Amino acid sequence: MGKKRTIVLKDPKLQRIRNNLRQVLIKAVQDIRHKLRSDINAISRDSEGRLRMNIDDSESVELQRLKDIQYQLNEFTDKSICYCDSCKQINKDMIYNLTLERWYCVECSEEFRDHYFQQEIRKQKGEFLGDYHEYFFKSFA
Ligand SMILES: [Zn+2]
Repeated sequence: MGKKRTIVLKDPKLQRIRNNLRQVLIKAVQDIRHKLRSDINAISRDSEGRLRMNIDDSESVELQRLKDIQYQLNEFTDKSICYCDSCKQINKDMIYNLTLERWYCVECSEEFRDHYFQQEIRKQKGEFLGDYHEYFFKSFA
């Protein structure tokens, strides 16, 4: 049973501000993502959009630098509190799952926790659980 951090806002005004801030952050990251993609394409593709075969050393270094930023941005997005890692909604109260290092909305977290306990009961009855991702569901218990 992991420690959990839940962030709940009850005031609708604060919820609106939170949701707007999340939207601004998501939009800013999308803009950076688009800029990165076009910078990467400017180096790696020719004017007709075909992959270039003759990239020189300095271009190769720059390409790697841009791809590193892209990777970090994906990591940042995956771990963001801006949206639930399961349902991707941005207007929810979130719970941090320490095991998975991701934020999930309260509704998804409760659903996964309930599923875990249902599966535990089935397991105790000796039922076959099939392709059940226990590690994932247990992290919500
Ligand atoms: Zn969710």
